[in-house]
Order: sequence, then C-alpha cells, then structure tokens
Amino acid sequence: MAPPKKLVAAQHRVRRMHPLAVSMSAELRRLAAADPDEIRAFQERRLRWMTRWAATASPFYRQWFRRHKVDPRAIRTLDDLRLLPVLDRDHLVSRPEMFRAYPARTMWQAHSSGTSGRPVTVYRTPGSSIYEMCALERQWSWYGLPRGLRRITLGSSDFAADRPGHPTEIVPGASQLLVSSYRLTPDDLPAILRDIRAFEPEAIDGWPSSISVLAELLYERGQRLPVRAVLTSSESIRSAQRALIQEVFRGPIVDHYGQTERVAMAGTCETGTMHIFPDYGIVELEPVPGLPDRWEIVGTPLHNWGFPLFRYRTGDLVGPAPAGECACGRSFPALGELDGRVEDVFTAADGRPLPLPSIVIDDVTGVREAQIAQLAPGRFEIRMVPGADFDAERAEQQYMRNVDRWFGPGQDVRVVTLGAVPRSSSGKLKAAVVEGSGARSVPEVVTAAFAGYLSDRED
Ligand SMILES: [Zn+2]
Repeated sequence: MAPPKKLVAAQHRVRRMHPLAVSMSAELRRLAAADPDEIRAFQERRLRWMTRWAATASPFYRQWFRRHKVDPRAIRTLDDLRLLPVLDRDHLVSRPEMFRAYPARTMWQAHSSGTSGRPVTVYRTPGSSIYEMCALERQWSWYGLPRGLRRITLGSSDFAADRPGHPTEIVPGASQLLVSSYRLTPDDLPAILRDIRAFEPEAIDGWPSSISVLAELLYERGQRLPVRAVLTSSESIRSAQRALIQEVFRGPIVDHYGQTERVAMAGTCETGTMHIFPDYGIVELEPVPGLPDRWEIVGTPLHNWGFPLFRYRTGDLVGPAPAGECACGRSFPALGELDGRVEDVFTAADGRPLPLPSIVIDDVTGVREAQIAQLAPGRFEIRMVPGADFDAERAEQQYMRNVDRWFGPGQDVRVVTLGAVPRSSSGKLKAAVVEGSGARSVPEVVTAAFAGYLSDRED
C-alpha cells in the first residue's frame, strides 16, 4: 500500500539528499553492463556480508545459527544459500520484529497483504529505499528517460479524501503530481485533466487498472495525452488494457515487478523482456508441486541491512523463461511471465469505478486472512480470520476507516469473522472478489474499439 503523502515527500527528500545515492546509482549502472561472472561475484560478496551481519544483529538469525550450529562464515557462494532456511509469509505475519537488525525508529514500516489476503509487516532502511529508487531510475534510463522524471502518479493517494474538491496534488520537490485513483469520475475529470495538462507530465505511473480507467475516460472524450512512458507495477496488464493505454498515452509501457517485502525486483527492458535485477536480490525459482510449468519466486534481498531476509517465498508464480539471450545485450536473466495480481474493478454506491479494491484490507494487521467482496455496487462484505494479536473491534474500525477513505462515504459495509475465507475454484484466496451480478462493464465505446482484445478480460 502506498504511504501517505507526507511520508512520500519525506522519503523523496531523503533520497535526493542521501550521500550514497550517487555511488549506488553508479554501481547499479556498472552492473547492468557487467558479465555474469562479475554479477555473481557482486552477489556473493553482498551475501557474505549480509549473513554475517544477520547472524549478529537479527534475533531470528542469531537464534537460528546458534540452534543449528552453522557458522555464518560457511555461507560464501550462491550454492551455500541452500544451507539457510526458507521463509514464508507466516514469519512476517506473526513475528516480524524478530528480523529487525536496526532499531524500529530508524526505519520505515510497511504492511501489505499483496495477492494473498494475509497481511505482513516489514521494515525498510532509508538506504534500501534509495537503492530501490536508483534501480528504478536505471530501468528508466534504458528507455532514455531521465532521473527525476516529471510524472503523474495514479495510485492509492488518499489526500483527496481530506481535501474535497482537490483530486490532485503536487508532491513538493518530487516532480510528481498525485491523482487519486478513486476520483476518476466524469464530474472530477475536467479539473483533473486541467491539472494534468498544466503539469506537463513526461510519464504516467500507477496501477494498470487505474491508468486504464483514466485512459477510458479520455478515450470516450476523443482525447489523447501523449507521454514518453507509462510506468506500471503491482498488477498484470491485460491485453485490452495494454491496447487502450498505448492508444491514449502513446509511450512504451515500462513495467516492473516487486513486493512490499522488497526481496526481488525485475523490470522490462526496451525490447520488452522482463529481466531479474540480480544486484537487487538473489532469485531462486522453486518448482511448484502439481504445476509443472510454474515456478515460485524465492528472493534474498541484498540491500536492506535493517531487516535481513534470506530465501523468502514471495508466493508469486512465473512461467518458463524465454530461451536465448535478450537483444538488449544485458546479462540480467530473463523472467517468465508472472501470474500477477488480477482484480476486478469495484463500483461505488454513486457509480464511481474503484480500481484495485483490496487496498482497503491491505494494511490491517492482526488478521490471518482477509477478503473484500462486492455483493452489489456500493455493498461490500469484508471477511476476516483472526490471527495473532487479533482485536476484532480495532480491525473492524480500521476497515471502516479505510473504506471511507478510499471508496468514499455512503458505502454499505459489513465486517464478518470467519474460520477461513472461502477459496476460488482454483483454490486461491483472492483478496478482492465481485460476487453475484454487478461486475463493472467496460464502456460501450471502448468495447467497440478494442473488441479484438477483450476476450481475455474474464480470467
Ligand atoms: Zn533485455
């Protein structure tokens, strides 16, 4: 879940002023041109430092190394990684503080349930956040995009809820105009478009579902907004969305993959291949029982000294990687196609589209599983399963606050406690589902224009 605006601005200030930003950026650019041996040497050097540090400073790893009588100095190469235990979400749902290697007050805290409906808590150092930004800016540079790109961010920005009549806001010093994904209505659109055009963006970034909603509204009005790039993450892009986005915004789609836990990162290059960023995290691809053509991404981050994790199961699955070398010439391994997050767009009581609706359950802790279901437009049911430190009243209040904040007032919401959240036919726990009728349909004019691409909308 995106942090509040004040925090975004503070993070941007720290990133810009951090003394390490320049050297991190230079090192990342050097590694993008390095050969596989140099990259491996870099990974192994970081891995050695990181294991020794974790064995000293992280309560979880201190205990683990002692109990299993493993000398942290025995972890020297990528193959030695196998000596360490595999972690999963349960570790970060129940006792995240056990992994902290720096005092909590020196780090940023984040929560997310991602695609799984089970919220984790993680911590990030300012240095790790800068490393992340530098890795993203490196990817932009492959498309000829400058650092500090002027961009519109369509996301979970909740500032609009606090300032009615102001659906956009400029982040001071960050070359960024925030636009609330939940205010993309015909009524607010003229003001939003005026602000966007006055800002003269070079790029647009956000969830594909939000960018598509804006693209639909522009398309219906016969308008286009050419930008140098469309930066996406967090969700799979359906081909109908891709066609519409490219028609309206023109620029290439620059997609990246990551998680709140920040254990692995990948991004597309200018030829469209999704590459693992091996200097950000070591990626192991674990076979998935029962699914012969799927692998789970297991990540070991190499940048977050305040919260060391090794071999973390992300729960994210990929298909087979494309064969052969990428035409871009970089030695970063290619990643197969992600079975990414795909969510239906909900509909508010007043008919507004609500993209990526699981945002309202994302940051509520103390529950083991959660799901939001749309029973009808404006009528929702939140299902929660008690976890460690469960407080029903606190959780319910937070859900209600989140619905008010993201979806807006006037929604009919019920919170229920269950023993387990019902799984979909594929056995997966979906964080957001539309039940019964009332799934939002694509406007007719868009359907007509992109009829050929729409067959994949039902997944
Ligand atoms: Zn490439």
